Amino acid sequence: MEVTLLGTGDTTGTPTVGCDCETCTAARDQGVERSRFSVHVRNERTDESLLIDASPDFRAQFLDRDVSLPDAAMVTHIHFDHLDGLGNAFRLFRELPVAAANQTDPETDESVADTIERKYDYLDALSVAGKEPIEPFELCGFDVTLVPVRHPPLVCYGVVVKDPETDAKLSITGDTNYAIPEASRERLADPDLLVADAIAPAAFCEHHPAGGDHHDSEGVPRTFGTKHMTREGALALADELGAAETRLVHVSHFFPAEEAFAEPLAVDGERYRL
Ligand SMILES: [Zn+2]
Ligand SMILES: [Zn+2]
Ligand SMILES: [Zn+2]
Repeated sequence: MEVTLLGTGDTTGTPTVGCDCETCTAARDQGVERSRFSVHVRNERTDESLLIDASPDFRAQFLDRDVSLPDAAMVTHIHFDHLDGLGNAFRLFRELPVAAANQTDPETDESVADTIERKYDYLDALSVAGKEPIEPFELCGFDVTLVPVRHPPLVCYGVVVKDPETDAKLSITGDTNYAIPEASRERLADPDLLVADAIAPAAFCEHHPAGGDHHDSEGVPRTFGTKHMTREGALALADELGAAETRLVHVSHFFPAEEAFAEPLAVDGERYRL
């Protein structure tokens, strides 16, 4: 299994358009980028590729990185930065199957699969398959599972990708706060690589109108606002899950410049072989 982190940023990305903060300036100086979230997973046995989340930066990501166009895609939730790249399928794909959860979201009265179907009704290349969370299914020769996470007010899902032949395991938290349900934690546990949402450092919670949540025994918030994990929360989760390797993603420009490019915060283009 070859994993390429195509997009490691939050919804504005780094550098953020029009921003001259020290972190965005440092990113420009160092020539590194955190575009909107997407992960490319290649099955080296079957030579198939799976795209997890469709970034609005799809075009630049596929031009910049040595990756093949996907044979299938999955979408974790309906926020712009994970979904709107699907429009790129127009005239690029004859056929692109898209898998997403089939559970109705009380907030939208639709499942993620329903929303994709409705929004991309005009794209004949897309075929959407609604999948039951927690139930593994086969995609690109992998065993894949969508696991419910917590990203209020919308439903959102983490993704577990396992190679049934080699037992290689990739766990992606999706956009989530620290309160991931126990059944999902069990599915995410013991990955060779954990890709975890860590939008900001815990210290930055004081700048969020909702502050922080899910504090640890030392009072450190593991959730930033209500929707995402802090760096500290993501690292605590990695520890709890027993991840062999961890990369922090969905990273914002709110990390101070001296921390923003330190380990284990990911930047675009990183590649792992599991
Ligand atoms: Zn900035
Ligand atoms: Zn989101
Ligand atoms: Zn997001």
